[in-house]
Amino acid sequence: MSYSQTRKRIKVPFNDLYIHYLSIKDEVDQAIASVISSSAFVRGPFVKKFEKDFAQLFGSKNCISCANGTDALYIAMKSLGLQAGDEVITTAHSWISTSETITQAGGRVVFADTENEFFTIDANQIEPKITDKTKGIIPVHLYGQAADMGAIISIARKYGLWVIEDCAQAHLATYKGKLVGTFGDAATFSFYPGKNLGAMGDAGAIITNDDKIASWMRLYANHGGKGNHEFEGINSRLDGLQAAILSTKLSHLSAWTIKRQEVAAKYNQLLQNIDDISLPVVRYDTSHVYHLYVILTEHRDNLRDYLKDRGIETAINYPYALPYCQAYNYLQHLPQHFPNAHANQSRILSLPIFPEITEEQILYVANSIKAYFYECKL
Ligand SMILES: *Cc1c(COP(=O)(O)O)cnc(C)c1O
Repeated sequence: MSYSQTRKRIKVPFNDLYIHYLSIKDEVDQAIASVISSSAFVRGPFVKKFEKDFAQLFGSKNCISCANGTDALYIAMKSLGLQAGDEVITTAHSWISTSETITQAGGRVVFADTENEFFTIDANQIEPKITDKTKGIIPVHLYGQAADMGAIISIARKYGLWVIEDCAQAHLATYKGKLVGTFGDAATFSFYPGKNLGAMGDAGAIITNDDKIASWMRLYANHGGKGNHEFEGINSRLDGLQAAILSTKLSHLSAWTIKRQEVAAKYNQLLQNIDDISLPVVRYDTSHVYHLYVILTEHRDNLRDYLKDRGIETAINYPYALPYCQAYNYLQHLPQHFPNAHANQSRILSLPIFPEITEEQILYVANSIKAYFYECKL
């Protein structure tokens, strides 16, 4: 039987947040009801509980919740005393939050290319970018894979730089047996609904073992404190509803992570012998939590159209590497400045992955990809 002649066409969404909700509906409904009945809508006991649980998970001394993962980066950078003209080095391949917050916080964005075999910042590209203005490094554990934290931390120590880990896609990922988020001076998380730990709206948090910056961040995210405001801050607070939902979901996170890893293992097995695609490579001694399962192929756009016709949703994360987005035209970057990030932007394709995806759907996605390469490709 040919791969494309599967008897039945099925729909495969990129993610399905409603099915995700249904899998724990009673718990979530009950959590929402208790917030409503106690009117603890902004900050309050549910937020405190979530902060405590989340900090504990990482063995971190502090968790500061905030409105979203972008604010988490901005607040963390402000707490480290970024000044106008300070430079921060980050990866050429991420969601724009990672770099836009450097500018928001008053700094200057300096990009470094990604590693050849992974999608994370190449530590070897960081050192040549360091100047006397450099203050920090923001590695991103992109797609759920740990960046090369050993090398990054040693560069940071050598030059006296801070490190903020952007963990928005990497809840529970590990590097040499340690959770990502526990290596830098601070780590930021997003709980955007589609993230591995997602709220039902926007939400974010920062963890840090540094009590001094932690108390500054707490004040800053809430108008510089109450009454006699110590300084001007911002309003970036977590809702009680989101916190209660997150606490409920936190207890399922490791089971969901294992599911994602199982889905990835199935894709790996089913897609292993197709010459025209490269599968995700996992860094030695790390665990990947597969926020996204991203393949590389020169036939990306045609494959994507073909899968769409067969009812399969895919995504491109992200169609432009950051230095090549319009927002950074002013930096005048050329393809050869970031060859890996530049080459990957036209080759990456994210396949559907979520804890509730069925065996049938995984098989259908894999067979459709095989059908494209073995039977349709021109
Ligand atoms: C989602 C994401 C963010 C921002 O999080 P929001 O909660 O959407 O503001 C930051 N960095 C990365 C890598 C992300 O994927």
